[in-house]
Amino acid sequence: MQVYYDRDADVSLIKAKKIAVIGYGSQGHAHALNLRDSGVKDVCVALREDSSSIKKAEAEKLKVMTSAEAAKWADVVMVLSPDEGHARLYNDHLKDNLKKGAALAFAHGLSIHFRLIEPRDDLDIFMVAPKGPGHTVRSEYQRGAGVPMLLAVNQDATGNAHDIGLAYASAIGGGRAGIIGTTFREECETDLFGEQAVLCGGLTSLIQAAYDTLMEAGYAPEMAYFECVHEVKLIVDLIYEGGIANMRYSISNTAEYGDYCSGPRIIDESVKARMKEVLDDIQSGRFTSQWMSECAAGQPSFKAMRRRAAENPLEEVGEKLRAMMPWISENALVDKSKN
Ligand code: NDP
Ligand code: MG
Repeated sequence: MQVYYDRDADVSLIKAKKIAVIGYGSQGHAHALNLRDSGVKDVCVALREDSSSIKKAEAEKLKVMTSAEAAKWADVVMVLSPDEGHARLYNDHLKDNLKKGAALAFAHGLSIHFRLIEPRDDLDIFMVAPKGPGHTVRSEYQRGAGVPMLLAVNQDATGNAHDIGLAYASAIGGGRAGIIGTTFREECETDLFGEQAVLCGGLTSLIQAAYDTLMEAGYAPEMAYFECVHEVKLIVDLIYEGGIANMRYSISNTAEYGDYCSGPRIIDESVKARMKEVLDDIQSGRFTSQWMSECAAGQPSFKAMRRRAAENPLEEVGEKLRAMMPWISENALVDKSKN
């Protein structure tokens, strides 16, 4: 595995370029602000004319353009709008406007790997995928650290795609933690699998099932919330710091014995068999085509699932309990009015 650090990157390569960041959401605000703080002078944010993000970007004194204007202006265009709109964005605003030999970059491999975009031959296509949420990409950078990032080149028209991508990753803080060389396919498939099986889907379903089990058994919602939701972070912090063994060193022997005995009863071979089905849906492209059809139809079931999940009584209990710990909101990473 190839790992690069700041010392391997020539940041002057990216400082010399005009960079357009499309979108000012989770990743967009982090890339634009980190690039600027690393000394890149020509950074602009590209947004739709009626975008609610314009005022957030302008509040940070960032130049805002439309995607078509930005494509004509920039040497590097980093696409940080939602994946489901990439094909239309490219076909309607980028394809005919990007400068010859410009770089078109992504933070996730999906649109290129599953051929939602068929890029022009003269473009460099690279990916810098931070292995963390955008708000963390920004907060880690600001405290002098960084999140690890993946770097991949899919099309190298100029011969410089790799070095430009490496310089870009370094300028947004990746070189402090490590920039790992990979491919669009590997990043895309492992990323989708990780978020579905563990980080988002697996974890939230596990939490919900355990919370419901305690509620159905007649325990107080506050008890169920603390045990099955709130404490997840405290345990994950220990895993983050030193691996699973480090977490087990900190918990009681009783908790550790229960972990060995009951964990495999909950997550058994049948779960792993279903994980393989999920992986197969990802690798075959079935997941992506299902998601794109859902988007083409206006996301009816996505929106319904989002609404139902937000209305879950668990969220109300959490809100009440967090009010007992005001420091949580004082140190919040997400401020919807700004980022
Ligand atoms: P967001 O959902 O946070 O992006 C929203 C931003 O994009 C808003 O500013 C929105 O503005 C703007 N936007 C939406 N549509 C368009 C458009 N057609 N043209 C221009 N701007 C548009 O995206 P994420 O940061 O979650 O994801 C961006 C990319 O990064 C994706 O490829 C994703 O897979 C990848 N990624 C994301 C991670 C994350 O932490 N979220 C982690 C790693 C990779 P408005 O709606 O106001 O117009
Ligand atoms: Mg992901």
